[in-house]
Amino acid sequence: DVPVPGKVSTRFDLEKETELRFEVESGEAAEQVELELLTGMAEVFGSELNRNKKYTFGPGSKIAVFTWQGCSVNLYGKPEVAYVSKDTPMLLYLNTHAALEQMRKQAERDNERGPRVMVVGPTDVGKSTVCRLLLSYAVRVGRRPTLVELDVGQSGVSVPGTVSALCIERPADVEEGFSVQAPLVYHFGSTTPGTNIKLYNKLTSCLAEVFSQRCEGNRKASVGGCIINTCGWVKGSGYQALVHCASAFEVDVVLVLDHERLYNELKRDLPHFVRVVLLPKSGGVVERSKECRRDTRDEKIREYFYGFRGVTFYPFSYEVRFSDVRIYKIGAPSIPDSCLPLGMSQDDTQLKLVPVTPGRDLTYHVLSVSSAEDGEEGARKGIVESPVCGFIVVTNVDTQTQVMKVLSPAPRPLPRHTLLIMDIRFMDMK
Ligand code: ATP
Repeated sequence: DVPVPGKVSTRFDLEKETELRFEVESGEAAEQVELELLTGMAEVFGSELNRNKKYTFGPGSKIAVFTWQGCSVNLYGKPEVAYVSKDTPMLLYLNTHAALEQMRKQAERDNERGPRVMVVGPTDVGKSTVCRLLLSYAVRVGRRPTLVELDVGQSGVSVPGTVSALCIERPADVEEGFSVQAPLVYHFGSTTPGTNIKLYNKLTSCLAEVFSQRCEGNRKASVGGCIINTCGWVKGSGYQALVHCASAFEVDVVLVLDHERLYNELKRDLPHFVRVVLLPKSGGVVERSKECRRDTRDEKIREYFYGFRGVTFYPFSYEVRFSDVRIYKIGAPSIPDSCLPLGMSQDDTQLKLVPVTPGRDLTYHVLSVSSAEDGEEGARKGIVESPVCGFIVVTNVDTQTQVMKVLSPAPRPLPRHTLLIMDIRFMDMK
């Protein structure tokens, strides 16, 4: 219990099955808060704390320190709020994990596949947190589950505007979350599925197919199963997208957080062998404003280029000639059915690649670098279904010289020359 210089310290003694919730002020000038476990055992979203180690949480962090047996902790610094709650759904979440683990054991015995779980609910009910918890508990008992991230607004894996899959091999780091190495990422291009629901469903199917293929060749991945995090849009096409996802992944379990109507609808519309379970949300989950979501998205892109906490990246800035790349937007604006060319459907327009002529309005846009082989027309077909190999941001466009300047995580040249434009923009204030 060595004091942190210049910081007030507050001690909390927690009884068993209670949690300390605290929030760190947001904003650049906000002071970080440090957490130290003094006695007993405790975990943060499923990852165990080491005793006498100081964990640092930056501006905007919202954390719960939960203890099964009781513990005491110190907080150093001035959190915006800090309180202990006895009322948490952690026991229900742990029981859910135990049930999933039973399914994995049975899968192992019967040479079947492990549980495929979809976590759904409106915004701010703690979907991502429940996914993190279940994944961390699963790896802690030796499983190798896969995280499927379908939340295009707040992706925990890659930059916003993408869907992805990540094999989880160790519990989430208390401060940084899951280690993101070699995720499989697809370009969606905007922060809500509603901008192109056909594309969204298509990419969900792509991920499901790749995951199933991996399960065929990898028994551990198959038994580990997957946890799918979804968007908070649960009405209309958003609801249809959930039903589509359930069928594409052939999910066995759907966890509905805090939404009885959604629970009833899914029970009605999904096949009877799918177990739909209603779970309460934690009272600790904090509602996030639009601005807060936007800041988190910006931060995610910044991290991609500049690194996170201890790890600093040094991105490159270089010029790319228009003639060296092909830029596309996925999805043409929809036109009335009566105006569509013969034999073409609205679906085709939403998945169509529309060439983008580089101009000043490209500035600040995030572009995905498609892994599709370079090549003309023939290769175009597979671009929508090809994963991306990285992202760049356009920082300047010179139409006179037909050159654009880009921010890139790697030095020139670009690994591929097919670029997909996102609606998302990033202004580099560094
Ligand atoms: P989205 O609407 O973006 O999909 P979500 O439903 O996935 O949101 P989370 O991202 O899991 O919600 O949680 C929202 C915030 O609440 C996060 O910052 C998370 O750290 C915090 N949080 C979750 N559970 C708790 C808790 N028990 N105590 C304190 N904070 C918590």
